[in-house]
Amino acid sequence: MTTLAPPATIAFIGLGMMGKPMATRLAAAGFRLRLYDLSQKAISDFVGANPTAVATASPKAAAQGADAVITMLPDGKAVRQALIEAPDAAQHGMAAGTLAIDMSSSNPVDTQKLARDLAAVGVALLDAPVSGGVKRAVDGSLSIMVGGNAADLERARPAFGAMGKTITLCGPAGAGHALKALNNYLSAAGLVAMCEALVVGEAFGLDPGTMVDVFNTSTGKSNATEVKGRQFVVPRNFVAGFTTGLMAKDLRTAGEVANHLQLNMPGLRQAVAYWSDAASKLGGSADHTEIFRYAEMLSDQDG
Ligand code: NAD
Repeated sequence: MTTLAPPATIAFIGLGMMGKPMATRLAAAGFRLRLYDLSQKAISDFVGANPTAVATASPKAAAQGADAVITMLPDGKAVRQALIEAPDAAQHGMAAGTLAIDMSSSNPVDTQKLARDLAAVGVALLDAPVSGGVKRAVDGSLSIMVGGNAADLERARPAFGAMGKTITLCGPAGAGHALKALNNYLSAAGLVAMCEALVVGEAFGLDPGTMVDVFNTSTGKSNATEVKGRQFVVPRNFVAGFTTGLMAKDLRTAGEVANHLQLNMPGLRQAVAYWSDAASKLGGSADHTEIFRYAEMLSDQDG
């Protein structure tokens, strides 16, 4: 079992808002990259900026000769397609002993099954979703939540170190994905709370910037108030780089985990419904900070 240290070869599948800066960090650290994305433009833009990276035409082709395959795709269904289900899936190009690392925010119950299916063909899977958004993907300071085997995490540690600052082994397969979905429940709830507070406060005559500044020096402080209030919500630029559709998916995942465990979580259920409706009203590709506009819309309808 070789350690995944530069100049090892990594197949990187999914060069979107997060995958692009994460793969850029790997290239800068000296890893050799083999790339695949459904979007030809995403691949050619990346190769244009990182000429040593190799463009490929399928997950299978990307995986050929790679020491590890990293996926950074919208959800676990896309990951399963790319790794094992598509006719040209990565598993057909992976040698036994290759490491699969899913850094997407996938459903942990699906991940447990994926780990079993990949183990049957001699491939170990780590789930390694991330938190921190585009900004921390760019500067390599993501929080990485790992599920899987401790020895496999040690193999992958140099690659994780190029992309993240905090690397936590959360438990066996699926544990990282479970923790990520639950983290995003907290993140989404904090954002909605801040947005509703801003709508009410503005109607009362308070200045939104002043409100955020006071939250940040008071007990209302959260990730939303610290890194989304002054930056994206108060100026109404809504450019955080994470979509409402993906946040709604993460909430649904957290809800599915609770249901799978037969746990009744009314607050979580409400958050799932809130974000799913927001994604349909705002459009799934709207930035998740536009939930402020949704809070304004609801205040008009219901108030
Ligand atoms: P994105 O939509 O910007 O990028 C996804 C990329 O995957 C796109 O380039 C798309 O063309 C490609 N793709 C989709 N299906 C594919 C397939 N079957 N095969 C190959 N390529 C495919 O999404 P993102 O914002 O980069 O998020 C990726 C994952 O990371 C999601 O699971 C998301 O929930 C999670 N995440 C996002 C953020 C963020 O701030 N954007 C933060 C943490 C985690």
